[in-house]
Amino acid sequence: MIQYKDHDITIFQSAMYQTNSVVVETDELVLVIDPTWLPNEVNEIQNYVYKNKKDKDVYLLFTHSDFDHILGYGAFLYAKVIASKKLKDCPNKQSIIDSIRDFDDSYYLTREYEIKFPNVDISISKEYEELEIGDMKFHFYQAPGHTEDGIITVLEPLGIVIAGDYLSNIEFPYIYHNSDDYLSTLQKLESIIDKYDISLLIPGHGGFTKDQAEMKKRISESVHYILQMKQLLLEDKQEETYDLIKKYSYPKAMKKFHNYNLTLLKKERNV
Ligand SMILES: [Zn+2]
Repeated sequence: MIQYKDHDITIFQSAMYQTNSVVVETDELVLVIDPTWLPNEVNEIQNYVYKNKKDKDVYLLFTHSDFDHILGYGAFLYAKVIASKKLKDCPNKQSIIDSIRDFDDSYYLTREYEIKFPNVDISISKEYEELEIGDMKFHFYQAPGHTEDGIITVLEPLGIVIAGDYLSNIEFPYIYHNSDDYLSTLQKLESIIDKYDISLLIPGHGGFTKDQAEMKKRISESVHYILQMKQLLLEDKQEETYDLIKKYSYPKAMKKFHNYNLTLLKKERNV
């Protein structure tokens, strides 16, 4: 399941929805990001961290509260947790835990760790915050749109951006929260890529990229999808919106998410 490895970073990609978990190792700390999915996959990440952490502190970063991104929390209870203040104060923790249980039950999965909602130690509440831990500098940005409680993290001096569920090359935007916020977050990502001269972008699902032209292309494709959706709805051409998802690899399975987007966009128009 290791998809990429260099001196600083290891990307584990799950067989489920190509979900990415990341382990960053510096001289002074180990950072684990969204460790996830199948029990053996979480075990593999857990063992990897245990074997390599030596006496370093371990930090756990959650990009947002979707159940697939937080379900590995219980395997790293000793770590200090970083997430947005919104995730910390999430009003529907129980329903997220229930989603993990429902998923596990439906596939007869058992886990060797407890399923719990993350207990956040370091919460990010401002639009922009920086944090220095040991030899790593974190730059955090609020990233609402997909969910309300997302954050984007830039890791300096590595030039890495952890995008959460934005800028996937396999998914169109899944807008669970708000389409205008989603567009603002895309704009933010564009300026982040320039500002920090990003050399590695890791999305929540799909392939990472080291190519800034590819990063920008993903931004414009996401913007295009959202603006086209809005325009077509305005023209009452709902059927034509389905053309927008034809180019993706799993359009049949993804139709459900496109339909959620349609419902949300229509609701936004009527407010
Ligand atoms: Zn996700």
